[in-house]
Amino acid sequence: MFEYAPAPESRDIVDIRPSYGLFINGEWVDSLGDERDKTVNPASEEVLSEFTLATDADVDRAVSAARKAYESVWGRLPGRERAKYLFRIARIIQERARELAVLESLDNGKPIREARDVDLPLVAAHFFYYAGWADKLSHAGFARRAADGGGWADPRPLGVAAQVIPWNFPLLMLAWKIAPALACGNTVVLKPAETTPLTALAFAEICRQADLPPGVVNIVTGAGATGQALVSHPDVNKVAFTGSTEVGRQIARSVAGTGKKLTLELGGKAANIVFDDAALDQAVEGIVNGIFFNQGHVCCAGSRLLVQESIEEELLDALKRRLGTLRLGDPLDKNTDIGAINSAAQLEKIRSLSEAGEQEGAGRWSPPCAIPDKGFWFPPTLFTGVAQSHRIAREEIFGPVLSVLTFRTPAEAVEKANNTPFGLSAGVWTEKGSRILWMADKLRAGVVWANTFNRFDPASPFGGYKESGYGREGGRHGLEAYLDV
Ligand code: NAD
Repeated sequence: MFEYAPAPESRDIVDIRPSYGLFINGEWVDSLGDERDKTVNPASEEVLSEFTLATDADVDRAVSAARKAYESVWGRLPGRERAKYLFRIARIIQERARELAVLESLDNGKPIREARDVDLPLVAAHFFYYAGWADKLSHAGFARRAADGGGWADPRPLGVAAQVIPWNFPLLMLAWKIAPALACGNTVVLKPAETTPLTALAFAEICRQADLPPGVVNIVTGAGATGQALVSHPDVNKVAFTGSTEVGRQIARSVAGTGKKLTLELGGKAANIVFDDAALDQAVEGIVNGIFFNQGHVCCAGSRLLVQESIEEELLDALKRRLGTLRLGDPLDKNTDIGAINSAAQLEKIRSLSEAGEQEGAGRWSPPCAIPDKGFWFPPTLFTGVAQSHRIAREEIFGPVLSVLTFRTPAEAVEKANNTPFGLSAGVWTEKGSRILWMADKLRAGVVWANTFNRFDPASPFGGYKESGYGREGGRHGLEAYLDV
């Protein structure tokens, strides 16, 4: 019989300070206030460290440092010089990838296998990719001859970028924001989420290691109030936010009429659509990856499975067998598939929406699964017999919960997939190329994956329609958010 031998990654390779200040102008500084919070390991509830809740005055200092660095150094530096720093940062991230993966796993709860094989390689790839753009901005189609032939419009950086990110991919969301901003010549003040500040604080050290000029990157920790002070600071030129649609709306209101350029990457409720001619084994893997990767804490998670009615039973049998093999537990164990839920508050949200699913009449199923005594955990969960009106079909759960709906025709699949206020991503599983193209054209989603899911590449633009936000991150399109032409 198979004996399970745990294979934990060593947590001794990370150096977590008992408490952190703010990273402003290339230095660690104390807050002008005295409010602090703790970040905990969601798999054990152990306190990892204390961090600062930055005040309005702290935010003001950070924005001033970014402004000074922009005016005096970074905004004037030739692109090829900016590129050197970005390449250096990318290489340091690669060199320190193992340590950063452990830190991310400890602070976020995600399985080390995912942090190591997905998050960290993508973080480095984003810095390499945008480093490559820094000296090519004048040749990338941004520079245009004026219509009357009288001059050139050259791309220029915007100035100081305020960036606020969520907790689900802490270091990767930082890379999505900081790499293009710096490549274009902007300086940055970034606020990580309050439950996952540690890799952003480690990134501050990486900026020092790379000799990045002081003030080009500033990291202020804190909760919503710090984020609000940052995005509404009058000396900020650009606001980039990734997070919930609710907070995105508030930010859009506060930025309206100020002349600040704004990009919003918000929530999702993606449909993963499986036709009866799909390669079922492959589709099962794609469904599992789509919703259980990162415990479903993924904005583009395939949280609604739309399965063609004729194969519903066969697909669900295969899916349940596969879910029975998923291992939930210690995120630092390299064999773990499902890690911890990031916070008690998020666990409560997942629980309450799951209860609503049962109350509204959907069938709930989870494989037998031992839940550890300490920490925040939720088993992989399937809901069958879900109607479009159910809350679990309409609201973002942001957890390992899959709602299964059925369809008969491609047109019905499109209608159901699009019947959501969100429009971030979708997946299509079929062997017919013409159907993939037809579906991709009809689906109102920023990304449509075919016979795969949750595949990311720094060269591909990512972003949503409708309440999933606006603007694109990644690729050449991601530069437009940080340039004036
Ligand atoms: P959240 O909106 O609660 O918080 C996101 C960030 O905003 C945090 O740093 C938080 O401190 C800060 N914040 C809170 N209130 C603020 C305010 N009034 N002004 C400025 N900043 C404020 O979201 P979350 O729970 O951290 O993240 C989960 C959400 O993020 C999900 O809805 C998910 O879909 C979304 N998300 C979207 C993408 C994408 O690319 N579209 C990627 C990852 C996550």
